[in-house]
Amino acid sequence: MDKQRDFVLRTIEERGVKFVRLWFTDVLGTLKSVAIAPAEVEGAFNEGIGIDGSAIEGLTRSYEADVLVQPDPATFQILPWRGEVDATARMFCDVLTPDGQPAVADPRNVLKRVLAKAADQGFSFYTHPEIEFYLLKSSELVDGRPVPVDQAGYFDNVPGGTAHDFRRQSVRMLEDLGISVEFSHHEVGPGQNEIDLRYADALTTADNIMTFRAVIKEVAIEQGVYATFMPKPLAGHPGSGMHTHMSLFEGDTNAFHEPGAQYQLSRIGRQFIAGLLTHAPEITAVTNQFVNSYKRLWGGDEAPSYVVWGHNNRSALVRVPLYKPGKGTSARVEYRAIDSAANPYLAYALLLAAGLKGIEEGYELPPEAVEDVWSMTDAERRALGYKPLPASLDRAVALMEESELVAETLGERVFNYVLLNKRKDWADYRDQVTPYELEKNLSLL
Ligand code: GLN
Ligand code: MG
Ligand code: MG
Ligand code: MG
Repeated sequence: MDKQRDFVLRTIEERGVKFVRLWFTDVLGTLKSVAIAPAEVEGAFNEGIGIDGSAIEGLTRSYEADVLVQPDPATFQILPWRGEVDATARMFCDVLTPDGQPAVADPRNVLKRVLAKAADQGFSFYTHPEIEFYLLKSSELVDGRPVPVDQAGYFDNVPGGTAHDFRRQSVRMLEDLGISVEFSHHEVGPGQNEIDLRYADALTTADNIMTFRAVIKEVAIEQGVYATFMPKPLAGHPGSGMHTHMSLFEGDTNAFHEPGAQYQLSRIGRQFIAGLLTHAPEITAVTNQFVNSYKRLWGGDEAPSYVVWGHNNRSALVRVPLYKPGKGTSARVEYRAIDSAANPYLAYALLLAAGLKGIEEGYELPPEAVEDVWSMTDAERRALGYKPLPASLDRAVALMEESELVAETLGERVFNYVLLNKRKDWADYRDQVTPYELEKNLSLL
């Protein structure tokens, strides 16, 4: 029998695991879970477990509601917050159709398809995310606003602060789950924190992000606070981005690295960035999928609004971070638009597809932006060819709708579902009459 499966079955026995949670993700990026008894695990490996997929956003059409979930033994971990006694474990699953084919609407499968395409061209794709989120006193609003746990700022060390213990406990749990953390710190906003995961292949990273969100929510409950990945919970304070660093490897060689080139960035690296820039506007409905995402992108505070690249430019959408000499393997590019509420499987699938397109088509990289693009005038930006990212979900959806790259990468089913779902979000939003409008317009005319 397969070694990994064997390891899982043995561990379940040795550690006295009583529940095995099968995890998968809907099209919006919500984590789904079904618990099975240890005795069912072998069958789950062999045939999958049948569930009713119709309750899951975007996963099935109603006339083909049943799906199978089949656990990936490489993702087996014991959940630290459930304790050692009668332990609970989890595995991520692939979603299959009743006849055992990969379900086209499974986000994990969407990413796997693009990874396989990259592999055909000799590339493996690595990512590492910087995940930002807010810690609030509770989910309740006071005067219509969430209340952060502290008033600290960037890299602040808060003596005896909630955030300190919070990060410590979260990092410990993540490490227990086999997820390495590179660093963690207080972010710019009050109650805002950031935890950076170590790089891994993109499928593992996407699984890790799903686990990360679950861990952060669990630790928050444990510590009597509330954690949110909402892109912009507080007007006037920074939003929560999920800047993602990306690299392509050919075997052990980082394909973005070329000693002696500008920023030691290879032709493949330049073409990859050109692909990201060319397709950024049309993938934004997925990397920034909520009405609220656009309040972050256009709210200043170091979130990118214009499609430019740079090396030490915090206003750029794509940044080439400098790395230590001799550390060629760490060459990478950072994409800064994606936010903490994105579906990581779909977003990473599109980022990779955009970069690969740049390589396939040999796109030219435009000159880098050295200036702060936010402080330029529209005319100055236009003269340099700096285009804006979409300013609203409505605009982003319109751009996505025209995109061959997005349609092809997501597949027809996911593509149509995202469009439908996002159009509905926008229509719901448009139906609102907000306090802002009342204040501004009630006494007018
Ligand atoms: N919070 C900022 C964003 O939304 C990033 C701030 C930073 O990490 N420098 O992208
Ligand atoms: Mg950071
Ligand atoms: Mg940050
Ligand atoms: Mg960053």
